[in-house]
Amino acid sequence: MRKCSLDSLNAIFTRINQFAKLYLPVNGNDGKAAYTEWQEGLEWSNALNTTKSPKDFFFPQTEDLMAFRTSGKNIEIIDTRKESEDFVVFGVRACDVKSFEVLDNVFLKEPYDSYYANRREHGIIISVACTRPADTCFCKTFGIDPAKPQGDISVWKTANELYWQSNTDRGAALLDKIADLTEECGTEAVEEQQQQINKIMAKLPLANLTTDGWGAGKTQELFDHPKWAELSEACLGCGTCTFVCPTCQCYDIKDFNSGKGVIRFRCWDSCMYSDFTKMSAGQPRLTQKERFRQRFMHKLVYYPENNNGMFSCVGCGRCLAKCPISMNIAKVMKTIGGKDND
Ligand code: SF4
Ligand code: SF4
Repeated sequence: MRKCSLDSLNAIFTRINQFAKLYLPVNGNDGKAAYTEWQEGLEWSNALNTTKSPKDFFFPQTEDLMAFRTSGKNIEIIDTRKESEDFVVFGVRACDVKSFEVLDNVFLKEPYDSYYANRREHGIIISVACTRPADTCFCKTFGIDPAKPQGDISVWKTANELYWQSNTDRGAALLDKIADLTEECGTEAVEEQQQQINKIMAKLPLANLTTDGWGAGKTQELFDHPKWAELSEACLGCGTCTFVCPTCQCYDIKDFNSGKGVIRFRCWDSCMYSDFTKMSAGQPRLTQKERFRQRFMHKLVYYPENNNGMFSCVGCGRCLAKCPISMNIAKVMKTIGGKDND
């Protein structure tokens, strides 16, 4: 393990930025944190988490897939892909690091998504332990430890210092590049902080939320549960929960005529929208209840079924903070999961 003083952080960011683009959470004018490309003078946000997740680094909200040019009856297909450059994302929380694993299970299985894979190969993740988890956090429900965040490098921040530990070869190579700005150290301060974090986690309102009643093989039991109607009744179908969610991975593909040719692009979509997966035969889920159910059944039943029991929620709490009607996955888990695990 290595450490540096907080005062040397700017020098470290400058060094990293010499070999790769560096992104980190920065407070905007609205006081909310968003991942921003680092430049001299920018300060790392103290916020627990960003409003939008770091999913965009690997699965951007919109991206061109290919282009077409026509000439008479001929169609020329243009490959618009570009090899990504190396980049570093600093300050990713444990829940968001885990969300990359959820996305990998979707995009790196057959059919393999070369657009996503290319970015994953070039992105180095530096995670940061959560010294002050919020009331909306419940990552522990899904086996995630906010005191031991993963990624290529894990970082712990104390009052005056940062502690660095590499977890992968890429992380070790990066730490080598900043070796003269850090020094070898023991693990005592980190262990003390980990104990503090665990104490805070144990007192949070959702500390006892469990996945009991959910998981692979529960479709028959849960699909027609009478509580879906009541839970979904006020849902506005705004899709906010899906857009802030680090693990939602649905997208639409559209063609756009730029005047000089046609560009085929993809953009995030939401299972909460009434035209989601609409086909010539019509809409497969006619009511908001069905769409609402789909979101939670996918995260808590269908995804685990296809991914060795792994859930596709990481307990980041963004949907708890952002839903305009205060509906969220924790309420759904408690209400339908078979017992009130409050
Ligand atoms: S469902 Fe909600 S709590 Fe779970 S990962 Fe998505 S935004 Fe976070
Ligand atoms: S954010 Fe809330 S109201 Fe909007 S679609 Fe999601 S559950 Fe429904």
